[in-house]
This record gives sequence, structure tokens and C-alpha cells, in this order.
Amino acid sequence: MDERRGVWCGVLLWVVFLTGCAGPTSRIDRSAESEQAEPRSSATVPTDWESFGHSVQGRPLRQRSIGRGPRRALWIGGIHGDEVEGMVATEELPSAFAAVPGLGDRVTLTIVEDVNPDGRAARRRGNSRGVDLNRNYPAENYRAGGSRGPMALSEPEARALYELLGELQPDVVLVAHSWGRKPTGPAAFVNFDGPAEALAERFSELSGMPVVPSTNIHGTPGSLGSLVGIDRGIPILTIEWEKGTDPIDCWQATSRAILAVIAGEG
Ligand SMILES: [Zn+2]
Repeated sequence: MDERRGVWCGVLLWVVFLTGCAGPTSRIDRSAESEQAEPRSSATVPTDWESFGHSVQGRPLRQRSIGRGPRRALWIGGIHGDEVEGMVATEELPSAFAAVPGLGDRVTLTIVEDVNPDGRAARRRGNSRGVDLNRNYPAENYRAGGSRGPMALSEPEARALYELLGELQPDVVLVAHSWGRKPTGPAAFVNFDGPAEALAERFSELSGMPVVPSTNIHGTPGSLGSLVGIDRGIPILTIEWEKGTDPIDCWQATSRAILAVIAGEG
């Protein structure tokens, strides 16, 4: 699939999403934000996406960067195809980032749109081969088989993100997820791996989402958290919004928290 078709696919998905899934949505008022952003911004909002690989079905995997600072932050807007709550955050992050005075001098933020566009198109968790792209990384706890894939990095989407991680060498990673509310436990929470407890606590303070340590979650072999946080010692936060929440509400409830973590306010 070529780039232009991929773009149209993205547009179509967005339209389908707005009309078929999320129900009535309110528009985000950016007037106050843009008034602040113009004179004080130290970062230029990027308009174009760059491809860093392709999915099994040929959809482009896309990223863009903003800022030129020494701290390197990576945002991953989606990895499970049926968890779309982070999509507005992914769209809004560049202008929100640019609106924070001086942030672009301190931080370079790379935004990955979605690691699993095939899964998102089909509205299912795994990629088009049924592999969970958050269980396909060569972490020490990886176990081959089933939805984890026949071997680590068996999937092109996982390989592309793995290579991007190597290129970027991020200082912090944030990943957008969502989960269905359980009878017990919080509706939404933030989870962390690696030396990210202070960042997770800060995120929690600003968002109201409780921190749930990885020790409270059943094993996640071959996950990004295992590879990046546990094996490599890089702080990584997994944001778990409540599944089905309007993505605009998700962004508005967590935008300050996300920007604080990106800025390194732990
Ligand atoms: Zn997920």
C-alpha cells in the first residue's frame, strides 16, 4: 500500500471512528492555546508524518518529531488495535508541546502515530496475523508461541519500532492503551516499568489516575515495558484509559500529566 492510500485510510478510519464508535463528540477549543503558543513557542509544529516501516498489510507506520532539546521523549499513540482512546492525544500533542514555553529547547519529542494500523483497521487487538505487538519484543521474559508470535520480532511492526527505539535512544517512553473496567480495581490507571515511579506519581497527581505497579498486573512477557523498562532501565509509562471513553475526554483529562512526564517533572 502506498503512502497516499495509507493517508486516506487514516482519514477514513477517523471518520468511521467519529461517526460509528465514539458517538457525539465535542470540538476542542484551541483558541486560547494558540494565542499562547504564537509568541512564546520554542518549537515548530510539524505538519508531515514520516514513515519508519510498514505493517504486514502494507500500511505505513508513521512518526514525527518536535523540539530540539537534549531530553528525548517517545510517545506511542497505539499498539493494540482495539484501543483507540489515545488517538486525540496523538493528534493534539504537537501543538500542546509547542505551547509550553521553552519546552522545545529542553526536549525532543518523537510521536509514533500507531504501531498497529492493521489491527486498528480491523478493530482487533493483534496485528493481521493475530500477534500481540506488545508481546513480540526480545525482552528477557519473552516466550515464543501463541499470540506472542513464533519468535521475538517476528512481526514487521515490532521490528520497525524496535529499530526506531535503537535510533532514538529515548530517555522516557509513554504508550497509550485502554482497558475494560473490571468489577474491582480502577477504571483507568497508569502503570510503569523501569525507574519511572516518580514520573508515574507525577502523572497520577495531575490526571487523577492511580498508579498501578507492574507487580499487580499479570505477566506481560515480551512487552515494551519488559524490554524498555525492565531490561534496559529506561522509564516507561503505560497509560490505561477506560476503554470506550471519548478520546477527546481522555486527552483533556491527561494532557497536563502527559506534558509533565515528557518534560521530566518527576
Ligand atoms: Zn493495550
